[in-house]
Formats: sequence, C-alpha cells, structure tokens
Amino acid sequence: MARPLDWQLATVAAVRDETPTVRSFTLRLPDWAGHRPGQHVDLRLTAEDGYSVERSYSIASEPERGPDVDITVERIPDGEVSPFLHDVVVVGDRLEVRGPIGGYFVWEPPLGGPLLLVAGGSGVVPLMAMLRHRARAMPRPPTTLLYSSRGPDEIIYRDELEALSGAADGPGVAHTLTRRQPPGWTGYARRIDEPMLAEVLEPLGSETRAYACGPTALVETVANGLVRLGLPPERIRTERFGPTGT
Ligand SMILES: Cc1cc2nc3c(=O)[nH]c(=O)nc-3n(C[C@H](O)[C@H](O)[C@H](O)COP(=O)(O)OP(=O)(O)OC[C@H]3O[C@@H](n4cnc5c(N)ncnc54)[C@H](O)[C@@H]3O)c2cc1C
Repeated sequence: MARPLDWQLATVAAVRDETPTVRSFTLRLPDWAGHRPGQHVDLRLTAEDGYSVERSYSIASEPERGPDVDITVERIPDGEVSPFLHDVVVVGDRLEVRGPIGGYFVWEPPLGGPLLLVAGGSGVVPLMAMLRHRARAMPRPPTTLLYSSRGPDEIIYRDELEALSGAADGPGVAHTLTRRQPPGWTGYARRIDEPMLAEVLEPLGSETRAYACGPTALVETVANGLVRLGLPPERIRTERFGPTGT
C-alpha cells in the first residue's frame, strides 16, 4: 500500500468543464488508501530535462468515490501548472500524484456541526468534498455554504449546488456575486463582510463549526469577522489558495 508521500502514476479518467476557466479532472489512482473531505493531493510535472514543478490541489470528490479522485483546477493565465493541465492534459494521460495530504482542514460527520462553509472562487473545491460526503453520510448537521464568485458564469458546481440545496436535509447555499449580477438577482452582490457573515451565521447558532477557503484576503476577513461575531477561534478552520494579498 502506497504511503501518502509516495508518488504514484494516476491515469486521467475524465475531464469536465465546470466554467469557462475551471476544469475538473478525474484521477484514477493505482494504490489509494482513501481520503478525508478537505484533504489535497500534490501533483508533479517533470520536463524532459528533469526540471520539475509541484502544486497542491484539493480533492473535490467524496471518499466514497475512491480510488477515483476528482480535482478542480482554475486556469491562472500566466501560471506554470494550471495552463498545462487545461491546455495539454487529456483523458488517458498519466500524472504523478501523491496524497492524501493534510489533516487539519478536514470535516467528517463525527465532528458534528452546525456547519458554515465559506468559499471564494476555487476555494469551494475542498468544501465541495465535505458537501458531497455529507450528502452520503449520517448524521447531516445543519449546513450553509456562503460562496463568493465574480459573476454567474464563474460559479463552480453551480447545478450540483442547486440540486444539493433542493434536497431534503440539503445545505443552504447563499451566493454573493461581486462583479456581475444577472438581471433580477436577489442574492448578495458585494464582497463578504461582517454583516453578511452575521446573517448566515445567525440561524446556525453559536455552536457552529466554520471552514473558510479561498484567496488570503477573503479567508482573513471571514476568520476575523467570525471571531468578532463570537465564534471561538478553535471552531474556525482556514485554508488559503493563491498568492498573498489577493
Ligand atoms: C492546499 C492547497 C490546495 C489548493 N487547491 C486548489 C484547487 O483545488 N484548485 C485550484 O485551482 N488551485 C488550488 N490551489 C492553488 C494551486 O496549488 C496553484 O497555486 C494554482 O493552480 C496556480 O499554479 P500555477 O502553476 O498555474 O501558477 P504559478 O506559476 O504558481 O503562478 C503564476 C502567477 O499566478 C499567481 N497565482 C498563483 N495562484 C493563483 C491563484 N489561485 N489565483 C490568482 N493568482 C494566482 C502567482 O502569484 C503568479 O503571479 C491550492 C493550493 C493549496 C496550497
């Protein structure tokens, strides 16, 4: 059995567009011990001259899908790895992967709830693993996802989130669209701030566990805001994607 830090060759079993700039890849792993929702994998690309780069990608799929693992990658135009994954990788290709990695930014049903999940952009990926697992598991604590996107076309997993929220026991999903809102939009239309956090936290109550993931600035706003609203810091877990200050 491979250990989490051993590299293995995963086969790309499926590729799916989520938005114009975000794509999901199903990786089939030859030797996978399973993961916990919120964990990530490392992916390594090596050129013929031996130059290699590694990047981390959260696991989007629920553990029940193992040994298939989905990752969801936003194309960063001047990036090294994400444009390669988008523009070059096709079904049947092999990629070096190791994992699962991380044990802190993880939610499983025994940890309980209520749960407040807060995402910015591709920060929704590890939270989606939690929501997908929650949909298959018991008990299902009251859960709300607050999700910030620039515009309606940039909402990752849009249809699946709608279906989940419409199901019995489904999570509440509150969107905020910070730059472009469709006509008749009734959701939030600004960056996440403390009054918005207060509104989504209030029905969940003071025992809530919170997970925030996305660009650093968003994660800091959320963590500081939730502490000011009375949530103990040990009930707030954070994961930062992308460069500092964004
Ligand atoms: C634990 C963890 C989990 C992650 N999970 C995911 C995931 O599920 N999906 C995902 O798409 N990414 C995820 N990331 C980010 C990912 O690891 C890469 O940083 C990202 O794909 C950019 O890599 P790149 O090689 O394309 O760009 P780089 O060559 O590293 O960067 C190129 C330029 O883009 C800027 N940049 C880098 N990342 C971002 C960003 N996220 N937003 C805006 N500008 C950026 C850099 O500052 C630089 O100027 C995760 C990061 C961590 C630490």
